[in-house]
Amino acid sequence: MKNMKLRAPKYFKDFQCIADKCKNSCCSAGWEIDIDNNSVKLYNKTNGEFGQKLKRNIDFNGQPHFKLKKNGTCPFLTKDKLCEIYINLGSNSLCHICKEHPRYYEWFEGIKECGIGLCCEEAARIILSQNQNFSTYETEIPYESVEKYDNTLHENLTIIRKKIIAHIENPEISFNSKMKNIISYGNSIQQKIYDNSLTSLEIELENTDTNFKYSDSLKNILKFLLNLETCNKDWIPYLERCINLYDDNYIRLPEFISANPKVNKYLENIATYFIWRYFLKATFDEDVLSKIGLMTISVSVIRYLFLCEWIESGNLSLDSCINIVRTFSEEIEYSEENLAELCDACYESQDFSSKKLKEIF
Ligand code: SF4
Repeated sequence: MKNMKLRAPKYFKDFQCIADKCKNSCCSAGWEIDIDNNSVKLYNKTNGEFGQKLKRNIDFNGQPHFKLKKNGTCPFLTKDKLCEIYINLGSNSLCHICKEHPRYYEWFEGIKECGIGLCCEEAARIILSQNQNFSTYETEIPYESVEKYDNTLHENLTIIRKKIIAHIENPEISFNSKMKNIISYGNSIQQKIYDNSLTSLEIELENTDTNFKYSDSLKNILKFLLNLETCNKDWIPYLERCINLYDDNYIRLPEFISANPKVNKYLENIATYFIWRYFLKATFDEDVLSKIGLMTISVSVIRYLFLCEWIESGNLSLDSCINIVRTFSEEIEYSEENLAELCDACYESQDFSSKKLKEIF
């Protein structure tokens, strides 16, 4: 049988759902969960009282999905925050989405890449807590076919992604300079793709260190986020409060970073996550600019929200960082519409131009 490789970040195998210990269960996030055909068959075959409960709580119109309660909670989440399907039918009976979440996958020829998503608090804890440089491992899995793509572009982008991650991890350069360098690098790569002259080697990162300057570029990006679709009703009032405090808070960024030395490592881990997860998608759409934009916008917004939390509560715990990152991811990253709007803005809005993005750092 033909095989392929599964390539995963080293921390991938550390993930295990913390179930009833989870403070922000994905089973109460209001997400519509589509049920795959094999699970539908299994649920339809299930007899007895639980079989009837299954059928009552599945909407079979279109792609079958669970009928959420009015508050957005899955009907099978018990008051002890456990899954009734798991309890009654065992772990193998979970539908594909429930079994896999928050794992994500990307398919290339002979390689399937994966990771865990920041919208899950346990995944966010694992990612933020990484103290080592990012590394991956590979295992053999049965072959899965992929759509055709430009192999040379893919190989170049793979090498470039490695360079970007190495730059994020470079201890000799300040976080702000790294971000500026990567924005410039992304611009050059995009230009080379337009000119059909991309090679992985000819563009080097400029290791220039620059001092932080106050700018209101991030304020406009935060305002842009106010117009996006929301998942949690508290998100917009929270964002508005942080925007209203921008002028007073943002100038305290250097003080905040020196008082919280761990923050830069958290941000580097988040930056690496976005590059690992999204950069190679440019293999299929040749769009590097918005992948770099998504990473830099995400780390700058999250850093500002960390800063607001530090000013408001007088300290910044790992738990509050996890909560901020998880919320941001749920609102922005895990909404296809919002992700698309943000990527479009990298081309259409002056506020998202490389010049403006560099001013943030
Ligand atoms: S958010 Fe993560 S840890 Fe919490 S219930 Fe869902 S998968 Fe488990």
